[in-house]
Amino acid sequence: MPLITNYFLALTLDFYILTQPLIVIPDKFLMILMIVRVRFHGRGGQGAKTASRILGTASFVEGMNVQDSPVYGAERRGAPVTAFTRISDSEILERGYVFDPDLLIVMDATLLASPVAKVTDGIRKKGAIFLNAQSANIIGEHYTLPSDVRIASYDLTSSAMEMLGKPIISSASAAAAARLVGLVKESSLEQAIVTELEEIGLSEEMIKKNVMLGRKIFSSLEPLELATEESEKKLRIVPLEMITSNDGLEDIIAVGNSKVAKTGSWRIFKPVVDYEKCTACTVCYAYCPESALILRQDGKPEIDYDNCKGCLICYRECPPKAINIEREVIAF
Ligand code: SF4
Ligand code: SF4
Repeated sequence: MPLITNYFLALTLDFYILTQPLIVIPDKFLMILMIVRVRFHGRGGQGAKTASRILGTASFVEGMNVQDSPVYGAERRGAPVTAFTRISDSEILERGYVFDPDLLIVMDATLLASPVAKVTDGIRKKGAIFLNAQSANIIGEHYTLPSDVRIASYDLTSSAMEMLGKPIISSASAAAAARLVGLVKESSLEQAIVTELEEIGLSEEMIKKNVMLGRKIFSSLEPLELATEESEKKLRIVPLEMITSNDGLEDIIAVGNSKVAKTGSWRIFKPVVDYEKCTACTVCYAYCPESALILRQDGKPEIDYDNCKGCLICYRECPPKAINIEREVIAF
């Protein structure tokens, strides 16, 4: 009997759906039941895009619907990069930029001062911010963080340096996000790290190290309740606004553009000249892509730390190895 009842109910629903214009399908058929929106803020070279992909793939392995996509500004090492992952148990109907994240992954805390990155914009009231930092308190002393969100932190860069020998934190950031979101098992994360890093051609050894790094971060954090219950009605038609040609062009003197932006905040490591060893050969001066080296009267270089982005080309090119590198203190 119940089978027959269900059969008639299904027939009735089919009939109802097929005979109604799309616009009046009850919202319960279109409602998203659960969605988590994650926004990654990193700098070019840290692996924000790959982190969003790893999180997306790990969630997909768990049977979720996912979306991931990045947004680049200037394609330069150190420039702000934003990437997004949406995870849902239902079809994801929204697209594009995540304006109202449940979770922010801040891969470089100096981005909190960037007027271009707009890191904390739109964070939901019960959302969370993860900071790649030794301690959230240190960040709180330097930057204003929203008061109505939860804050978590872990020093991903130091762990990456220790385990990979490089400050690339794609796997570590994805692991932090996966753990905080709480919808992904460690085994799915590992599978996703392998899949995504194989795709970008990393060596087997480096992939293994990334898996170990991901495991370490995953087990060091605790899940937060982040999923947004979508109970409000969703708009089915997204209004499209006319964009004039001028809207697409950012003024060169606008906040964050070249004249105002100090690329010194991009550094993870900074070059330091050892004047005892320096022979005033000016090789570093010729190679610096930022013109961040000024020659003194004696022909030796002085580094303009406001604009040196920490690419370390000078360090690599200096013939007598008179340039050393130090971890940047404002990198936290
Ligand atoms: S690290 Fe050296 S080469 Fe790179 S921007 Fe700074 S001074 Fe220039
Ligand atoms: S390349 Fe090295 S030795 Fe030559 S000027 Fe620069 S710091 Fe000095």
